[in-house]
Amino acid sequence: MRYSQMFGKTTKSAQADADSANAKFLTQGGFVDQEMAGVYTWLPLGLHVLRKVEQIVREEMNALGALEIFMPSLQPKEYWEKTKRWEGVDILFKLKSQTDKDYALGCTHEEVVTPLVQKFIQSYKELPLAVYQINTKFRDELRAKSGVLRGREFRMKDMYSFHTSQEDLEKFYHRALQAYVKVFSRCGMNVKVVQASGGIFTSNISHEFQAITPAGEDNLIACEVCSFGQNVEIATVKEGEACPECSGKLIKTKGIEVGNIFDLGTKYTDAFEFDVNNAEGKVQRVLMGCYGIGTSRLVGAIVETFHDDKGIIWPESVAPYKVHLVSLGNDEAVKQEAEKLYNELLSKGIEVLFDDRDASAGAKLADADLIGVPWRVVVSKKTLAEGSVELKERNKSEAEMVKLSEILNKI
Ligand SMILES: [Zn+2]
Repeated sequence: MRYSQMFGKTTKSAQADADSANAKFLTQGGFVDQEMAGVYTWLPLGLHVLRKVEQIVREEMNALGALEIFMPSLQPKEYWEKTKRWEGVDILFKLKSQTDKDYALGCTHEEVVTPLVQKFIQSYKELPLAVYQINTKFRDELRAKSGVLRGREFRMKDMYSFHTSQEDLEKFYHRALQAYVKVFSRCGMNVKVVQASGGIFTSNISHEFQAITPAGEDNLIACEVCSFGQNVEIATVKEGEACPECSGKLIKTKGIEVGNIFDLGTKYTDAFEFDVNNAEGKVQRVLMGCYGIGTSRLVGAIVETFHDDKGIIWPESVAPYKVHLVSLGNDEAVKQEAEKLYNELLSKGIEVLFDDRDASAGAKLADADLIGVPWRVVVSKKTLAEGSVELKERNKSEAEMVKLSEILNKI
């Protein structure tokens, strides 16, 4: 991609209410544009990152055997009344049609997926079943804040599983938990698995996944070594003690919740009276689990975790491009060599952002730091005099000169 052709360039000024690193750098870097508080357009650069995160999520959900579907955001009031959540969920967006009918804009999809699966599944032989979607969700937040971390409209992956026994549900639940750990680690994140508050006091289990970052809003006691963590408010362990799972050291830290999973029991299948025939030929109520990952929130959490004062430092797996190629100056030989290298990188299938603009060296290098692509390659009169280019990793301070003939092998 030629940066001169990019829609949504870097800007010096962040949105007025930028209260976090992700709000500041995603806006300044040209990844997102704030339409109003808590609502963002994903510009081409940002959409590239979001799609990479969602593809990692999709691959791991598919590996679990879950099937992807796409459910409507517009949902009838009757379904939400059945589950007693029309009045019960304060952040539910409600719409009135000109026909005087009421609708909800989905903040979650139990009210859609339960009657949907009920329509198709009659026998225990067709269970277990897990379906998921990656969709836009809506929350009527009083105070949207922290950039894409807490929005009114956001992206989410939600999966729902259906079972005929508690044992079967728990088996799938633990596989899903492992899949979540894999998703976050593939995104470069250090995530702790925290038993959620509700889980301690009710019979149904629930876990949250907390991305460890100083910008986190939740206080945790977590293991330095493994993924064990607890919320400070309900912790049964203390800072400095040995981890109950691996005997590593427990420390105080902060996290951003990027996912959660719940054993729903029969809460929703009771509401819709969803039964199947069991092996004994009798009618039996279905059990459900649900599993969420906020994918746009995850992008925000990645930025909170990986940045410095100059901009973002993307982990390679979710970076919008692998290489940021910069040509400096107006020298004809420099331009030609940069064009040649751009085409060679493309022909090798390497994703390149090529800053071919007629701009100052200072502006181009500052933009490269702000955008945060993992590998920066600079072509200038100075580097060509040595038959080389300058190669620098975004997360390192030192650059090195690499011969033109070796650069492709080096990246
Ligand atoms: Zn541990």
